[in-house]
Amino acid sequence: MYTFVEFFQNNLTIYLSSVFLIGLVVGSFLNVVIIRLPIILEAGWKKECCELLEIKKNKINSDKVFNLIFPSSHCPLCKYKIKISQNIPIFSYLLLKGKCKNCRKDISPRYPIIELTSAVLACFTAFIFGVSLQAFFAICLTWSLIVLSVIDFDTRYLPDNITLPLLWFGILISTFNIFTDINSSIFGAIFGYGILWTINFFFRIITGKVGMGHGDFKLLAVFGAWFGWQNLAPVLILSSAIGIFVALILIFNKSYDKNKGIPFGPYLAFSGWLSMIVGGYVISAYLNFII
Ligand SMILES: [Zn+2]
Repeated sequence: MYTFVEFFQNNLTIYLSSVFLIGLVVGSFLNVVIIRLPIILEAGWKKECCELLEIKKNKINSDKVFNLIFPSSHCPLCKYKIKISQNIPIFSYLLLKGKCKNCRKDISPRYPIIELTSAVLACFTAFIFGVSLQAFFAICLTWSLIVLSVIDFDTRYLPDNITLPLLWFGILISTFNIFTDINSSIFGAIFGYGILWTINFFFRIITGKVGMGHGDFKLLAVFGAWFGWQNLAPVLILSSAIGIFVALILIFNKSYDKNKGIPFGPYLAFSGWLSMIVGGYVISAYLNFII
């Protein structure tokens, strides 16, 4: 029987183009998650605080529905409701020349950039893993990492709502040996969290400061769960190297903010993604070569 899989295997261009188009559409949704998830989470925390402190009347909580679907997409400046025909990834931005149709103010170029990144990285991942179950899971992880990186960059926070499901899901797929075996996955999750927790613990004792967020521990645990403990060292070394490099550039440019620090999540996400693409052993071999 001629299956979909065989069809795509024989028509790689159609396969990669399809992934690219799906990547654009998903990228459009990733933009919504990146903007709205931190707002939804903050509103939830404020509500919990008010309940805990028994503050009945508060101006923070309105009854307006706000989630990932409602209200529908609108211009953040003039609240103009964006029609579906004006919400086509990349093309609408180009067609409208990067301006809101109603108020003519600039639309952030970040929207098309994230859409394009989502499509290109998904396409590249599909190219590496071919037509396979691995490709499907790797693409889903890629999209999640884009969201985590940008949210961490914006807010210095990696939401549990994304890291924890990824962690459990990594262990679940390892029972089917998708990227690694179940033992490597479980040890990976435990050590991934444990290594950064330990480093942070001693850092806090010595310096009295909090070096990194717990979200970073969970993200490294995600990579451990998905690709096994064997990948942790290369991911950690590469992300630290990038982090130190970026910090040095910022200090050199005098734009380093001591209080804010630098978000570690994006470097961790990039290193984990790279280790998924080329395999941790390649990064290890390369690091051995240059150090
Ligand atoms: Zn507008």
